[in-house]
Amino acid sequence: MACPKTKDLIEAYGDGELDLGSSLEIERHLAGCEACAAVLERHRALRSALAGASLHYDVPPRLAARVRSAVRKEAKGRATGWLPSWRWAAVAASVAPLAILTWALVALSKTPSPGDLLNQEIVSAHLRSLMGNHLMDFPSSDQHTVKPAFAGRIDFSPDVRGLSGVGFTLIGGRLDYLDGRPVAALVYGRRKHVINLFIWPSAGGEGARGVETSLRGYNLLRWSRAGMLYSAVSDLNAPELRELRKAFEE
Ligand SMILES: [Zn+2]
Repeated sequence: MACPKTKDLIEAYGDGELDLGSSLEIERHLAGCEACAAVLERHRALRSALAGASLHYDVPPRLAARVRSAVRKEAKGRATGWLPSWRWAAVAASVAPLAILTWALVALSKTPSPGDLLNQEIVSAHLRSLMGNHLMDFPSSDQHTVKPAFAGRIDFSPDVRGLSGVGFTLIGGRLDYLDGRPVAALVYGRRKHVINLFIWPSAGGEGARGVETSLRGYNLLRWSRAGMLYSAVSDLNAPELRELRKAFEE
């Protein structure tokens, strides 16, 4: 892939929105192209700056006091049914900065955090896997077949477990791409539900505290253990998904 084309795709790559094939091509290009690597670096810096806490401000106490007094004055004016037009102008002038600030705070609070972005990425990867024939690169119910299948395709060895004893049937494994890197996906089935369990090495810094959430109708669990990050996603209910996590933590 040549520069003009990668330049178009680099931001999508930085946001983890590309499919595995394109991501790998971009990575190959980045390894040899300083200009494109710099574009990616700038995009990542911007992304983390937007998600950072430094853009969030508390309302200064003086502004809060001004708003309270403006509202009091307005209420008084309403009560008497009369307010000189110049006072309305004063009320409007003192409330306007708050309106702008409120708008800014609402806009900023909607800026997704890196964790939110990862959750979205995980659900998207799950949905992609359910489309067409993308669910498995190597179908097998045998962990001793699935585990070696990852060897040579990714730079780590995922913990692959047969969990039929606790009611999860291993269906197979797949390579996927999350959080800016290739990851292992283990596919389990329970009744009619498909569960994707993504595994990849922790880059450090992630706490052991897990994340449990639901997004677009899918339940999602994330946790870390022994230097690896795990993420299970499915339309299976949360308590049963926790059983899968428990089985992996034993
Ligand atoms: Zn380039």
